[in-house]
Amino acid sequence: MPIDATRPYDDANVFAKILRGEIPARRVYEDEFALAFYDIAPQAPVHLLVIPKGAYVSWDDFSARASEAEIAGFTRAIGHVAREHVGSGYRLLANTGSDAGQEVPHLHVHIFAGAPLGPMLA
Ligand code: 5GP
Repeated sequence: MPIDATRPYDDANVFAKILRGEIPARRVYEDEFALAFYDIAPQAPVHLLVIPKGAYVSWDDFSARASEAEIAGFTRAIGHVAREHVGSGYRLLANTGSDAGQEVPHLHVHIFAGAPLGPMLA
């Protein structure tokens, strides 16, 4: 069910549980600001998710409340993961709010790669 990206953060969401180590994930990268892991239902040969460690519902929430260090750290982590774990060419996607079909209410950036992607993935 798509979410309302303006609602308060709910720390029972599945990515909060992955961050706390309460449920497993196939992790590929972690630093002070971000965690990256494989999507459980891949929509491309390589489908990774990068999430900030802070409690942010969406891109709207993150860009409004995160510190400069968090924004820089998260952005650098996405670039690092793409360089280290993805071949030539990739697509970034951040579904934000119900109209975009965001289902997990913790900000995440999808990285799709591994094949010619066509015009759109969601
Ligand atoms: P959204 O539609 O919110 O942009 O994307 C949420 C993504 O999270 C989906 O691609 C979905 O497959 C992935 N996902 C949902 N639950 C889990 C989980 O428990 N583990 C992992 N690794 N991915 C998940």
